[in-house]
Parts: sequence; C-alpha cells; structure tokens
Amino acid sequence: MQKKNNTQYSIFLKLFVLFLIFIVLANIALGLFVSWIFGKGPPGGPGGPGGPEKFHRVLSSYAVKVMGSPPDTSAAALLSSELDIKIRIESPDFIWKNDESIPDSKTLLNERAMNPDKDFYSVRIKGRPFTISRSGQNIIIISPLNPREDLNETKVIIYVVSVITILAVLLYFSLRWIFGPIKKLTEGVEKISEGDFESTVIVERRDELGNLADSINEMKVNISNMIKLKESLLIDVSHELRSPLTRIKLANEFIEDPKIQNKIREDVKEMELMISELLDTYRTEKINSRSVKEKTSLSEIVTKVISKFPKGNVVFIGTPGDDFILADIRKIETAVLNITDNAVKYSEGKPVYVKVFRNIENEVCLSVKDSGRGIDESELGKIFEPFYRIDKSRDKKIKGYGLGLSLVRKILNDHDAVIDVKSRKNEGTEFTVTFPKQKEFQ
Ligand code: ADP
Repeated sequence: MQKKNNTQYSIFLKLFVLFLIFIVLANIALGLFVSWIFGKGPPGGPGGPGGPEKFHRVLSSYAVKVMGSPPDTSAAALLSSELDIKIRIESPDFIWKNDESIPDSKTLLNERAMNPDKDFYSVRIKGRPFTISRSGQNIIIISPLNPREDLNETKVIIYVVSVITILAVLLYFSLRWIFGPIKKLTEGVEKISEGDFESTVIVERRDELGNLADSINEMKVNISNMIKLKESLLIDVSHELRSPLTRIKLANEFIEDPKIQNKIREDVKEMELMISELLDTYRTEKINSRSVKEKTSLSEIVTKVISKFPKGNVVFIGTPGDDFILADIRKIETAVLNITDNAVKYSEGKPVYVKVFRNIENEVCLSVKDSGRGIDESELGKIFEPFYRIDKSRDKKIKGYGLGLSLVRKILNDHDAVIDVKSRKNEGTEFTVTFPKQKEFQ
C-alpha cells in the first residue's frame, strides 16, 4: 500500500515554533526584570557610558569633596537638596543624616558592605546603590534620593510568579491544542477494539495526528472487510459441510461393528451441532440486516427470556417504572438469552439474578449476576472473541463453541449499548449492559 503523507503543518514544527516563542517571551520577561532591578539609577540621572552607577560614583565623589573634612553639615544639606541625594555623616562628635533609610556604618559592616581597605567605593545592598567615603574618622554614606523604593521582595516575587504562571498557562493551552486530537483518536481506537466498525474518527488537521486518524479509519475498513470475508467463508464452508456429513451418516449405517458405528454417529452429531450453532450465529441476514428498532420495555424482554428457563433457576429482581429502550426486539432477546444462558451454564446450579434498573446517569441497565465459577481477570478481555472458550477441556461437558458472547457484543454495538463484565474466580460473574439514553422517551 502506498504511504500517504499530507502532513502540511508538522506537529514537530508546531512544537519547535511554540518553544521558540516561549524562549523569546521568557527572555523578554527576564530582560525587563533585570533592567527593572538594576537598570534604573537616580531619577533624571543620565544613562550613557558607564550608566547610572558611574554617574552616582562621580556625583558622590564631588559631594564628598564639597563637604570637606571634617564634613560641613550645611554644605551636606544644600548638596542633598540640589543633587537629589541622601547623605549620612558619621563623625566622632556628631551624626548627621537627611534620611532615615540610609543604613549606618554598623549595619553596612554587618551586611559585609564595609571595606576597611578602601577610602571611597560603591556597594549595592538589596539592589540599592551606596557610595561610602572615609576620611580619618569621618564616614560619609551617600545614596540616590529616590532609590528603588518601589522594589521590595513581595513585588519581585509577584512579578516572577505572574510571568511564570502566564507563560505556563500559554504553554499548557498551546500543547492542549496541539495534542487535542489524541483524545478523539483514543476514543476511536477504543470503539474499534470493542468491535464497532461503523463510526469514523474525524480529526480535521493536516499534521501527523490527522494522518494517524486517516490510517485508523483505513485500518478499520480493512479489518471490517476481513472479518466479513472470514464470516462469509465460515458460513459457506459450514453450508458445504452439511452434504458430506449427510453422506457420512448414510454410509455409517452400512458399518457392521456397532461400536465404531456409534462412535461415528456421536462425532457426526457433534459436528452437526457445531455447524448449526455457527450458522445460527453468523446467518447473514441475522447479523448484517438493518435492525428495525422500536420503543420497547426491557423488563418485558427479560421476563420473556427468563420464562424459557426452569423455574427457580433464574430470579428476576426489581424493575423501574420506566425502562423503555430503542431495540430490535428479536436481537436484544438473543443477547439477553445468551448472557443468561451462560450464567446458568457456568454457575453449577446456583441461582442467577437478573435485574433491570436505572444507573446514576439515568440510563436503562441490565445486570445478570451469578455465583458460579467466575472468570480469571486475564481472560475477561478475550471472552467476547469468536470461538474463545476458557479451559476448553473442562468445558467439554458444557456445550458451546465460544460464539455466544461475540454475537452479544455485535448486537449491543448495533444498539449503541455497552457491556461490562466484573468477575472473581470461584466467586461469580456479573454482566452489566447499559443502553443509551433516548431523548424522545424523556
Ligand atoms: P460458550 O458457547 O462457550 O458459552 P460464549 O461466547 O458465550 O461461549 O462464552 C465464552 C466463554 O466465556 C465461555 O466458554 C466461558 O468460559 C466464559 N463465560 C461466559 N459467561 C460466563 C459466566 N457467566 N461465568 C463463567 N464463565 C463464563
């Protein structure tokens, strides 16, 4: 088969572009953040070579010179108002400051911002620049008048958290959009695995996921055709087998040894049984014919089916007032009969409980529960496959060819109903069938 490739907007290209956008946005945010913290100097301070840091250093060194030694406090007051700066002077005889927010030399020492080896240097404490000048025992600490007063820990955290959150949300929704069709694809594959070959997976995208949807649809059609072919082959062969079997039966009458004759008779009988069950199950008109569905009460169908079993074997419990479903009555009867018949067959004489009820979603349901041999967890997925029988040798006594449940599943699929099975080995099994809600019945 030729490989199709109509990937116009590759998923990997989309991811690449997405991550590129993400990286650019993250870098812009980071850049803004850094310039916010470090970029601003004193208001009105020039940028240019060296930036505000250098400007502040030059300004401070000028101010220190003008104040003289020992520092003149009136000059300091004049400078601070003229140059928009904050000054703190620490001298053995006095402490002068024009702003409380300038840390004293002890605090700077604790913050490891004091450098005992230098007389004039700049430091930055919590993003705020200071120049410290020492002459003899006098210390002058200068800071721009309007430092980053708006910069505090909470604001930085809020900025970082909001930027990360916004980017993460954007990334999440973009990824959701890119991988959105995976949900539809999964549902489609699940439907196919349940034997529903009617519905189509629709993914209107021209990327790998769109291609995958097309391949799944194609695969579904191929599998469905293969199964139909297999079924019709089975039906044809079974039909054809009837005539040679009749001839064997006739010829057997001429065998003289009664022992051999009986053995052949038994084998022929078993083959005939197998063929008739096979034809019953796969009779073309039964499976492939369009269902004629009508509004019908599920309890009515169940009651009719139960009446075919010996009294006491099957107990019908509870029924809601309104249990209408849209059903091809004959087909649903067959399905209920097969499930109930299995429960009776595999529960070694213990009673079987059949219940019609509405679940939390208000859907009409049927439950068939037995306390029989149960089914191993590993087998639960296989029992709906045609010809699958658990423990074949042990089941020799119980007649059947493993076709009942595969027919049940076909019928229920045709009714958009779902069958679920819960079982514990040696404790019992419960089959639950959930029928779809019918708006017109409500
Ligand atoms: P069969 O004709 O063999 O009963 P089915 O398709 O109806 O075929 O069932 C498939 C297999 O599932 C059975 O052979 C049996 O092993 C198992 N099974 C079905 N229903 C039950 C049940 N209620 N309890 C235990 N095993 C069950």
